[in-house]
Order: sequence, then C-alpha cells, then structure tokens
Amino acid sequence: MNNFKNYINGEWVAGVAEAPNINPSDTSDVIGLYAQGNQAHAEAAIAAARSAIPRWAFSTPQQRFDVLDAVGNEILARKDEIGRLLSREEGKTLPEGIGETVRAAMIFKFFAGEALRVGGESLPSVRPGVGVEMSREPVGVVGLITPWNFPIAIPAWKIAPALAYGNCVVFKPAELVPGCAWTIAEILSRTALPKGVFNLVMGPGSKVGNTFVNSPQVDAISFTGSQATGQRIIAACAARQAKMQCEMGGKNPMIVLDDADLDVAVNAAVQSAYFSTGQRCTASSRIIVTEGVHDAFVGAVLGKMAKLKIDNAVLPGTDIGPVVDERQLAGNLGYVAKAREEGGNVVGGEAVERATRGFYQLPALVTETTAAMTINREEVFGPVASVIRVKNYDEALAMANDTPFGLSAGIATTSLKYATHFKRHSQAGMVMVNLPTAGVDYHVPFGGRKGSSYGPREQGRYAQEFFTTVKTAYTLA
Ligand code: ADP
Repeated sequence: MNNFKNYINGEWVAGVAEAPNINPSDTSDVIGLYAQGNQAHAEAAIAAARSAIPRWAFSTPQQRFDVLDAVGNEILARKDEIGRLLSREEGKTLPEGIGETVRAAMIFKFFAGEALRVGGESLPSVRPGVGVEMSREPVGVVGLITPWNFPIAIPAWKIAPALAYGNCVVFKPAELVPGCAWTIAEILSRTALPKGVFNLVMGPGSKVGNTFVNSPQVDAISFTGSQATGQRIIAACAARQAKMQCEMGGKNPMIVLDDADLDVAVNAAVQSAYFSTGQRCTASSRIIVTEGVHDAFVGAVLGKMAKLKIDNAVLPGTDIGPVVDERQLAGNLGYVAKAREEGGNVVGGEAVERATRGFYQLPALVTETTAAMTINREEVFGPVASVIRVKNYDEALAMANDTPFGLSAGIATTSLKYATHFKRHSQAGMVMVNLPTAGVDYHVPFGGRKGSSYGPREQGRYAQEFFTTVKTAYTLA
C-alpha cells in the first residue's frame, strides 16, 4: 500500500493519521493511504509560504512560465494514468477523467502564458510633470480549498493562476479525492519552484481549511464547495478583511421551447443533468419545458435515460459512474423520496447493485413538478433532474430566474429573438444557448450570481482580479 504525505516547505511530512482513499465504484479498492494534517501542519505550511514570498513575488515571468508550462506538459503526457486515478477516486467515467486531466493541463499552460502578460497601465497625472502607473502585484499567501467533484481541474484553476501572478500557496483538497491533488504537488516538487512557495496539506476542512481561513497570515482564500461552508468562510474572511472568492452550488435551469430542435434539447438535457453522475455545480437540475413540446421531450429524455449504462467508472462503455460516497447517495435518495411525497412523478432514481460494490444510482427524472417543491429549491448534487411545465417563454424565463442560485442557465430554441432575450435577462453568471449548462471553456471566466458565487470570477484573464492587488504609483520626473 502506498502512503502519501503532505508537502510543506519543500519536504514530505507525515500527518497525525492516515486516511484511506476509497474507490466509489469498488469499495474493496483502496487507492492509497493519505496523510491527515492538523492545525499545526496548516500553520507550518502558512509560515513556509509567508517566508517564501520574497522568492516568488519578485520572480521573473520566465521563471513562472517555465514552472507552469512544465506542469502542464507533464499532466498532458500522463493523462491516461492520472485520468484513471481520477476515475478511481471520484467515480466519473474514464473518458470524463481523462478529459478533466487534459483540461487541467491546458489550464496550467494557459496561465504559463498569462504569466508573461501581466500588464499595467500608465496615464499622465492631472498635475504637471507627474506620471501615474498602475501595476498588478501578488496578493501574498493564498489559501486554496477545493471540493471533490473535479479532483484535478478545480485545483488546477486555483493553483495555476495563484502561481502565475506570483503568490505563495497553501492548498487543501477535499478529503474524498486526495490522489489527484497529491499528484499535482509531486509534479510541482520536481520543478524549479523555490521551497515553501507551494504547500499541500491534506486533512479535514474543520482543522486544516479552518486554520487557513482564520489565519491572519493568509491574505486571500479561494474556496469551491457547499453553500453552507462558503457562507461561513465569507463571514470569517470579511471579519478579518481577507480577500475571498467563493464558488458554491447551483440549481441551474434549462429552458426547452416549442421551437427547439428536439435532438439538441434532449442531448443537452441528458448530458448536463446526468453525466458526471450529476455531480457538477453547473448541472441542469430544473428543466423548464413549454407545453407544446413537453410530452415529446419527456418521452425522448426517458428513452435516452433507459439506454444509459450505469456501472464501474473505469469499465469501457459505462456512461455514468457511481455517486461519490454513501452519505451523498443517501442524500440523493432522500431528495427522490421527498419529490415523490410532494407530488412529483418519479422515474428511476433507485440505488442499484453492480458486480463491484459501489454507490450506484439510476438517473431520476421527476415530472409534473412545481416551483415550490423542494426538488426545485435545493441543490441535490446527484443524477436527479425535474421537469416544470410552462405555457410560454415569459413564464419559462420567470421560472428560470426564480431561484436563490445563479451559476449557469440554458435555453434550447431555434428563435434568435428568444435566445437573445434570454442571454440578456437570465440572472446567471453563465448562459448557454442550445448547449448543456455544464461544460465550459478553460480560457474564459467562470462564476455565478446570487447565492452561487461571491467575489471575483475564476479562470481566464479575469482570474487576475482575485490573485493580484493593484498599485498606483506617482512619479515627478
Ligand atoms: P461537500 O459537502 O461537497 O463536501 P464542503 O463545503 O463541505 O462540500 O467541502 C468543500 C471543501 O471545504 C472541502 O475541501 C472541505 O474539507 C472544506 N471545508 C469543510 N469545512 C470547512 C471549514 N469549516 N473551513 C474551511 N474549509 C472547510
């Protein structure tokens, strides 16, 4: 059995305990034993990052490019191996695992290029003989806290910009998926990154994550996870004036209008509701359908769902892997039961057994639902979607925006008028026309509105808003 340690100040450090990383497709498969750090480990990592600031904040763009490009190249070269590890520890299918790994590589390569393009502005002063320059500087030490559903892409889209813009990093991955996080740390440990610039501390959120959030030595926190934890982090960071960026959940609508291309609409709905086991914060969970196409659409979705193969994530031909763990499966089953109790018509959604023991669940479609039902208010984070029947586009738009969340929203229509109106009036950070609500590019901003997000956007050039701070310098020549 392999034992994986934390990486603090350029050294591999044992934790206070070790936790098994268990494959949700096959609970007899233990991927490895991963160090569990505590508050003292988190504090040691923060101190190491703090003392490394002069070595990285003043590094050259070439040094930053070289490190990030090397990481991107190695992840790309090892995409099959790392993608398989990802599928084993998280449960998304092998093609999805490999695809996410390639995405992570591309993110490192994108930010390698961005490191060369950290620009500024200069303006003449309103005072004679004076010049004004605006430049971007690193924030300092950034604490990165990530969830389990994208074990390599989310760490990549926080770590790569943090380093590209000259910050030092303390990183805590989700307890369920330490494997990909450890792999990134191991690759970084072989680059020319000065010691202490990047630190990995695996362990519980309540100990390691909480120490990052509350330490006066951590200048900024970037978090992706549940709304409950995010809201606690927002309050704690605000109280000590730390910069923060939080991505938390969604209840993403997808509108299907009578004039939609039915194949496009059905494929987009099935893709974004059920692939990756519905465990994406951009998953479509409320499918809002106008009455003229409602029955044909529901029939076609059910037909497609019946053909999906739910099985061990690494088997060829599997469309949907298991739910990530027992607790999440119990939660999903609870939401399905509640949808039925509240009057929804449920197809699928049962827990099922396969040749290997895992947390398998059939995809569920709940039809004949109303906006007030729990299934349309709360995020399930599993392969469960509901259908809401509406009269027309206006009602569909109002229904789409009737949610405390605002991450992603989609519409299937062949009407330019409705597509244009929806792009303008959807209260979501990301809007998709004739595309799944999930599945985004790596070089453009990602984020939402309302309860879904707080703070500056992630990814693309917009990432610099969070990972840099602006300096305005005046010079009398
Ligand atoms: P989920 O329910 O999907 O696991 P969480 O919000 O609990 O979502 O977890 C997301 C990340 O936040 C994980 O890395 C977790 O360890 C971390 N975390 C959980 N609680 C805290 C906390 N109190 N402070 C900081 N990080 C935390």
